Amino acid sequence: MSFKWLFNQLALTGVACVMVSCSDVMRPPAISFKIADTPVVPRSIPQMGSEVRVKQDFMSKSSRPRRKASSMSPKFITIHSTANRSADALQHARALKNGALGSLNWHFTADENLAVQHIPLNETGRHADKGGPGDRFSIGIEMCEVRGQNCPRVYARAAKLTAILMKRYNIPLRNVVPHYYWTGKNCPAPLLTNGRPGYKWSWFISRVDYYRRCLDAKPAPVAVNNGRPAGTPSRIGPPPMGSL
Ligand SMILES: [Zn+2]
Repeated sequence: MSFKWLFNQLALTGVACVMVSCSDVMRPPAISFKIADTPVVPRSIPQMGSEVRVKQDFMSKSSRPRRKASSMSPKFITIHSTANRSADALQHARALKNGALGSLNWHFTADENLAVQHIPLNETGRHADKGGPGDRFSIGIEMCEVRGQNCPRVYARAAKLTAILMKRYNIPLRNVVPHYYWTGKNCPAPLLTNGRPGYKWSWFISRVDYYRRCLDAKPAPVAVNNGRPAGTPSRIGPPPMGSL
């Protein structure tokens, strides 16, 4: 066995390992969840967007994280929580803009009132795995944990925003992942169970799925009665039997 042959074998094995681990990480396990039985309320993306209330407040292009950013075609959505009990979405926007968070950045921060967008969606952030696939391919959404907030409203806002982004970028539900998925970090902590995805994460995914179905649902057709909306009395002929 020559040294060159051994070297080539090791190199090939190494390449194969990298390829396997990359393809594995790019295909998260499907999450089992109970389909929400809430009746679907059809909405367009603009309608749901108005419920999310997105405010764009971009970091400067010359800021440290944005100078190091690359262009991105989003394939995943990574859900985080801030682990900060004293700052809402606008305060996080200020901290990002004044450089208080160093090289970190992400795309959205949601609180009970609005979602602030910090960087364009075709640009990488640095929120998941120090420049790994989580950063290179995912939109990062931080959910606030500020003291006294209405948590269900924060989760609903993040779930609606996620559904809109899924539809816009054709991202499948299994590619909506917790930060935990990339590094094993306990994030988003309020939606993990003993530091891992469990029933709370499944519940959140069921809400994302629900809002995604709302975006796909067609509004009920408006029935017409001789050119008038249903229920408008017709001037032609008597009312049908049994309608009074
Ligand atoms: Zn995180």
